[in-house]
Amino acid sequence: MADHNFDVVVIGSGPGGYIAAIRAAQLGLKAAVIETDRLGGVCLNWGCIPTKALLKNAEHKHFLNEADEWGFSLGNVSVDFPKVIARSRDVADQNSSGVSFLMKKNKIEVFMGWGYIVDKNRVEVRDKDGKATESLTSKSIIIATGASPRIFPGIEVDYKRVITSKEALTFDKLPESLIVIGAGAIGAEFAYFYNAFGTKVTMVEYQPNILPVEDEDASKEVARAFKKQGIAVRGGTKVVSAKANGNGVEVVVENSKGEQETLTAEMALNAVGVTGNIEGFGLENIGVEIERGHIKVDEFLRTNVPGVYAIGDVVGAPWLAHVASMEGVVAAEHIAGHAEHGMDYSNIPGCTYCQPQVASVGMTEKAAREAGYEVKVGKFPFKASGKARAIGHTDGFVKLVIDAKYGEILGGHIVGSEATEMIAEIGLGRAADATGMTVHRTVHAHPTLSEAVMEAAADAYGEALNM
Ligand code: NAD
Repeated sequence: MADHNFDVVVIGSGPGGYIAAIRAAQLGLKAAVIETDRLGGVCLNWGCIPTKALLKNAEHKHFLNEADEWGFSLGNVSVDFPKVIARSRDVADQNSSGVSFLMKKNKIEVFMGWGYIVDKNRVEVRDKDGKATESLTSKSIIIATGASPRIFPGIEVDYKRVITSKEALTFDKLPESLIVIGAGAIGAEFAYFYNAFGTKVTMVEYQPNILPVEDEDASKEVARAFKKQGIAVRGGTKVVSAKANGNGVEVVVENSKGEQETLTAEMALNAVGVTGNIEGFGLENIGVEIERGHIKVDEFLRTNVPGVYAIGDVVGAPWLAHVASMEGVVAAEHIAGHAEHGMDYSNIPGCTYCQPQVASVGMTEKAAREAGYEVKVGKFPFKASGKARAIGHTDGFVKLVIDAKYGEILGGHIVGSEATEMIAEIGLGRAADATGMTVHRTVHAHPTLSEAVMEAAADAYGEALNM
């Protein structure tokens, strides 16, 4: 068995792990990454990237459905669904190869295999049979093993009829009907995608509103748009059980009054959250502290074991790729002795890529009021935007929650066709301590959807000009 020596060994090559390794290498550390599956982790291979490829297909499908309105006569449009899936897989492959290129460019050694922590300075690389093939000694370890779908008792995931998002990415044929269990980001994105291609979709969400972490106005706007698209949305409804039954699935749901009903469909998608991957790689050998299914870390991503760090989904909410990457940067900088500030979770954008898209940063209106702020709320609907009308996407709005006393932008919420691109303006504004008035008085190009951000700020001061 070959022995190797490193400053940092990273276990897992998702957007947390591979970014941590690059940052460590930039700072002059000798870094290695261990990966058991494909470089890029869930995000690049089974999450963020391939889903965005599929969602683009869904947008094109909507356009084709409405082609007549745009002056095109297309006749009957047929869909080659395996080709839709193949394109998404191809995009994932390209991204995974991109990580391989970045590893070489930064002189990071990649070990394909299962990382197993023997002690706090030694990680073995093991093969499929559990046999150690390499031994890596290292001053520091960064655990970036990610998370897996959470599966509640009663929901019998068989990966054929009752599936997770991974199977939903690789169907070879469209299901005729689909029940989506949970209306968070995964549920909303797949509900939108499959509905666009003609699957009869029912979403079931335990909380009263879909996308329940979003501002209530945003959740309601998306629910309205989804219903218009033909998706059946059931809020305030709990899934009690789900199981395959012959050629379909049976899903028992319960409303807030405790009344039960059995829904049937060809398939059901389990999308009720994720839980950290904490088992099978030796955490117990070094006594890493776990809290509610995730590794406990401090603001510099240090675990309770000196020299051992953990980043990304395995450390808990918010389970987002861009959070994992920033945690990777902070951990690597701390190891190199360069970290001045720990992680700041107060300005993290959240994005959902259905149509209309949903994006937010900072506090919801409700959270700001509950935190004791006196708030000014500014709102501008896209139906009042010339650009939105011109491009045929008038659903949604921009909403800004502004502190009435000092003008601080406490939160921004956008529902609309390019919401996920537009949210960066509000994030940067908050980071730079821009006030609502700064945004109001910043000249935005006309015609753009971003003008709606400026108009929402103006509205907070009672000075909106175009509505
Ligand atoms: P989630 O936690 O965002 O949503 C799960 C939903 O399921 C919740 O709204 C919850 O109330 C509901 N739920 C739980 N039990 C239920 C039951 N028995 N019956 C009905 N509803 C129930 O989780 P997710 O959508 O699975 O996504 C996992 C993680 O990945 C999330 O943190 C998410 O933010 C992240 N993610 C992000 C993106 C993105 O940024 N676009 C995309 C996909 C996933």
